[in-house]
Amino acid sequence: MYFGRALKSYGQAEHWNNNSGWRKALHVGRHFMNPIKFISISLVGMLFLSFRPSIYPVYITGHIRSDPKEASFDSSYLIIYVKGNGKVLARSTSDKLGNFKMTFLPGDEKSFDFFCTGAGIDSIFLKSFVSFESDEPDITFYFPAKRSTNKLGQITCPKCVKADKVYRIVYGDGIPFKRIITNGDTVYTPIYKGKYNAGTCVDGVAKYYCGRDKIKF
Ligand SMILES: [Zn+2]
Repeated sequence: MYFGRALKSYGQAEHWNNNSGWRKALHVGRHFMNPIKFISISLVGMLFLSFRPSIYPVYITGHIRSDPKEASFDSSYLIIYVKGNGKVLARSTSDKLGNFKMTFLPGDEKSFDFFCTGAGIDSIFLKSFVSFESDEPDITFYFPAKRSTNKLGQITCPKCVKADKVYRIVYGDGIPFKRIITNGDTVYTPIYKGKYNAGTCVDGVAKYYCGRDKIKF
C-alpha cells in the first residue's frame, strides 16, 4: 500500500516535469549563468525597452480657427511653436487660411504645449497634448483657445484646468504694477487687485493669464 502510493506520486512528478519545457530551460540556463547575472541582464534589457525614446517623428497638419462664439481674429501668417520640457521643439507659420504643417521628434516630454505669436500679438497658449493619437494628427486649434468654466462659472486655464490662478488681462497703462519688497529687493508683479496688467495700450487677443503655468490665453 505504502510502496504503491510512493510509486504513484513519483510517476506524477515525472509526468509534470516532462511537460514543463520552460522548467528544463531554466534548469539548463542555471548551468551557464548564475541567477544574479541572469537577473541583472534581464533588468538592463527591460530598462532599455521602457526608456527607449521615440524614433518616429510626428507630422502635424494644423488649422488655426476662431471660436465662432468669440470675436474673430486674423489667423493668417501666425508663428506657431510647440514647447516640451521648456524647450521649443518646432516652429511653423500659418498660411493665408490659417493652415500649417509641423514636424518634430517627440522624446520624453511631459507634454507638448502649442503657442502662437505674430505681429502685435503676444505669445498665446493654444492647446496642450500629452501624446498624439497617430504619427500624422490633424489638429484644429482655436485662437484664442476655447473658454472653459468650472462649476462656479469661473474661467479655467486650458493647461492646468484650474481657476484659482487665472487673472483677467487688462490692457492699458491705467492700472499700476504692484510693488513687493522682499529682503530689501523691490519686485514688480503685473498681478494687481486680481488683474494681470499687460502693460500695453494695444488690445490683445489673450483675455486671461494663468499664474501657475505663466501662459496667456
Ligand atoms: Zn494653468
